[in-house]
Amino acid sequence: MNGTESVSSWITPLRPALTDLSDRHLERLHRLESDLSEVLAAAPASGVGPSARLLAVRRRLAERVRAGHTPTDSPSVTALTEALAGFVCGFHDLDLRDAVGPGHGRMILRHGTGLVRRRWSARLAGGDLVGIAATERHGGSRLQKITTRAVPRPGGGWWLNGEKCWVSRLTESAAFVVFFKNPDGHIAAAVIDARAPGLERGPVIPAGLGGWAWGSLSFTDVPVDEADLLAGPDGGLAVFREHFAAFRPLVAATALGTAAGVHSQVTATLTARLTTGILPRLRDTTLVTLGRTHAELNSALLAALAAARITTAGSGQADMWSRGVKAHAVDTAHHAVAELSLLVGASGFQADSALAKARGDLGGLLYADGIHDSLLRSVGRTLTTPTAQAALPHPRTATAEIHPHAVA
Ligand SMILES: Cc1cc2nc3c(=O)[nH]c(=O)nc-3n(C[C@H](O)[C@H](O)[C@H](O)COP(=O)(O)OP(=O)(O)OC[C@H]3O[C@@H](n4cnc5c(N)ncnc54)[C@H](O)[C@@H]3O)c2cc1C
Repeated sequence: MNGTESVSSWITPLRPALTDLSDRHLERLHRLESDLSEVLAAAPASGVGPSARLLAVRRRLAERVRAGHTPTDSPSVTALTEALAGFVCGFHDLDLRDAVGPGHGRMILRHGTGLVRRRWSARLAGGDLVGIAATERHGGSRLQKITTRAVPRPGGGWWLNGEKCWVSRLTESAAFVVFFKNPDGHIAAAVIDARAPGLERGPVIPAGLGGWAWGSLSFTDVPVDEADLLAGPDGGLAVFREHFAAFRPLVAATALGTAAGVHSQVTATLTARLTTGILPRLRDTTLVTLGRTHAELNSALLAALAAARITTAGSGQADMWSRGVKAHAVDTAHHAVAELSLLVGASGFQADSALAKARGDLGGLLYADGIHDSLLRSVGRTLTTPTAQAALPHPRTATAEIHPHAVA
């Protein structure tokens, strides 16, 4: 977001509240921050499309991670540091939400067959990107109603036919995790190579989150083999639920990083206006907005970090927490950026302003990775269903009821 302001000024003060975040973890986050700045400065800003630049950034960061030594942490600390890495990336630009980590490729690493997991862990470590294709024209909030369907293929395996829409990372993904009905009508998930025969793309121009290409993906007799399936022939709902329980806290932290970047930029601009005498003093309303949004962003970040750990700990409330936290964090970030932008004037409304970009990107994220009314409604339903409350299943084992509510 802003080269003069450091994301450390947000993370370091939280350290007493994150007792197992060691010096080593903080150093790694500092390194990510400086690597990002360096790689972004070195990546060509013109002559290539934004997504080619983002993909180059992802690959260069992957090279640096492979060159360094990454010690193994407990799953809980890993969840914490991954969410904080998302915060660091979001602080620079929400389009960098895929700059590090497996992203949606996590579904393959968790649920693929041994061979597929090994192949993809190497490809993801090299910087390859995986997209998710779940939404269809009838409405992404109803995954159970998808019509993309597999039929048996002569000689074994299936053929996949149908269409997905609003798919992000449309042209940059090396593969997609696609959700469809198997020949028995149960929901399955499979990893489909982006170059598979019968796969066609229909790009559309996004109004926010425009860094990656976006649009529709159609399938005409695309071959699916047993080895491509995640969690077996009918494990699609369980894969979806388990993935988003873990993924949404990361999305939440990344969105809050973007709003924190805007906060730092606005604070720096106002401080400079004060010290140079452009403004004699800052109005109380401005100071109150800075103070309130600072508290709101920090408390939402702490909730997102807690949700990341609750999920990893295998809590029965993980899914509910991650749904609520995603909605709360992105709403908080979106409102904060709208209010903060008004403190610095018309410059924040130029098309190329980082503030305008953050507003548009966070607007897109109100829908992507889970629509807020659906997420919050399903939290409310869980809270008011005594049987569901008593026996909240762990997402890794849950196969029954699902609250899909959208993806990105
Ligand atoms: C920037 C962006 C990136 C995305 N990336 C991806 C991606 O990579 N892969 C992918 O598969 N999808 C992606 N999506 C799609 C996203 O997951 C869907 O937009 C989301 O699932 C909602 O689906 P929909 O847009 O069809 O809305 P709908 O499901 O039609 O819902 C629209 C509204 O209607 C409401 N609604 C639903 N049922 C009712 C009812 N009975 N009565 C009244 N209101 C109702 C919903 O809560 C919602 O508010 C992306 C979307 C965006 C904006």
